[in-house]
Amino acid sequence: MRKLRTSVDPVDQPISALHGRLADEPERDCPLCPRLVAFRAANRAAHADWYNGAVPGFGPRSAPVLIVGLAPGLGGANRTGRPFTGDYAGVLLYETLLAAGFAVGSYAARIDDGLRLTRCRIVNAVRCVPPGNKPLPKEIATCNRFLAVEFAAMPALKAVLALGRIAHEAVLRARGVPPRKAPFQHGAEHRLGNNLILFDSYHVSRYNTSTGRLTAAMFSEVVARLAAVLEA
Ligand code: SF4
Repeated sequence: MRKLRTSVDPVDQPISALHGRLADEPERDCPLCPRLVAFRAANRAAHADWYNGAVPGFGPRSAPVLIVGLAPGLGGANRTGRPFTGDYAGVLLYETLLAAGFAVGSYAARIDDGLRLTRCRIVNAVRCVPPGNKPLPKEIATCNRFLAVEFAAMPALKAVLALGRIAHEAVLRARGVPPRKAPFQHGAEHRLGNNLILFDSYHVSRYNTSTGRLTAAMFSEVVARLAAVLEA
């Protein structure tokens, strides 16, 4: 199994110019989920130098792959303003994407590390950090409009990678596919219509990797199949 780098460099002040928000993404102060707005305000009071807002997607919309995570981590994407950046989950995700040719540069857990996604884009099913990493069903439903926008705005999209069950179900909702027609299972592939394939993986969280539920080899295998679809 490939050895994972577990140290995460401290992040200095977020660099606003690198937060590439597109016009149809939620505004940083999106007001739609009252509980998350209140949590955002509390985090701003406690950590004024953190990003603390709805995290924009990362990567080009011209890409053939969309990767969907759950929600920003409190000290990760919520701190840095880039999905999966600054906490443990990003180490496995970005090192795997770099190895499989979906990104160039290097991942250093900070928004100005120069990492560039070339063949994929990454968004979260819920754009604002939820307390305890647990969004409410209503928040997942409310934020789904922004996930639907991504599908409409990616003309070359061939495949989606859902990281975990909540991301999987958010993808189905955004595509109008009943959950019973495509149950979540690690390693599963689902045809969503319009030649779009949904790949499932357990989330790349510290919990899943530390318990062995998801190993680097398991995740690499899913990403390799994703890459193979693009070559076919
Ligand atoms: S989770 Fe989504 S819908 Fe809710 S406040 Fe944040 S950006 Fe808006």
